[in-house]
Amino acid sequence: MRLLLVEDDLELSRTLKMDLESAGYAVDTALEGEHGEFLGMTESYDAVILDLGLPKMPGLEILKRWRAAHNSIPVIVLTARDAWHEKVDGFKAGADDYLGKPFHVQELLARLQALLKRANQHNQIALNSEGVALNEEQQTVIVNDAQAINLTAIEFRLLRYFMLHQGQILSKAHLGEHIYEYASDPDSNVIEVYINRLRRIVGNDKIHTRRGQGYVFGQKP
Ligand code: CA
Repeated sequence: MRLLLVEDDLELSRTLKMDLESAGYAVDTALEGEHGEFLGMTESYDAVILDLGLPKMPGLEILKRWRAAHNSIPVIVLTARDAWHEKVDGFKAGADDYLGKPFHVQELLARLQALLKRANQHNQIALNSEGVALNEEQQTVIVNDAQAINLTAIEFRLLRYFMLHQGQILSKAHLGEHIYEYASDPDSNVIEVYINRLRRIVGNDKIHTRRGQGYVFGQKP
């Protein structure tokens, strides 16, 4: 899963990016509103964490522009503590959730997980199906009730993305866009290598190849 973090507090941006990355997300950051608005319109993200008070363009304006352009990406807004009107304005502008500053990163992670599951319409079962159970906290997987296996960061990102998009054909380019950050330029052979590693862990029959199209998790071709 690839996230966009739009936050002008440099220190908060740095620490959040690290926390989100260690929770297995690829994270792009924007430190002001115009850049954030641009990235959200032009890049492929799975969710956005959007501060409201930003230089150059306020968070609410960004959100209104995205929604006016029918960009329905899930957005969590960061509001000032106890500023109930910011929450109301945020929801009116199209926010999916909010978090009052200061917050504990664990709460942000829990809200993100819930939001991503809702957005992908699989609820709780998404990360436990086809005999594959993914533990998002520990970044481990249990296959057919055997022992838990530790996943590397990329294996975890890839498997979580597959499990939240079961039955959909996912091309290598699409997978690359949602697993890596803006600055990195993964070549498609790398994705293939990771998919083969993942197949050795979860079983060949879980990830199917569609020739010339991509890969499908959890559905017989
Ligand atoms: Ca701010």
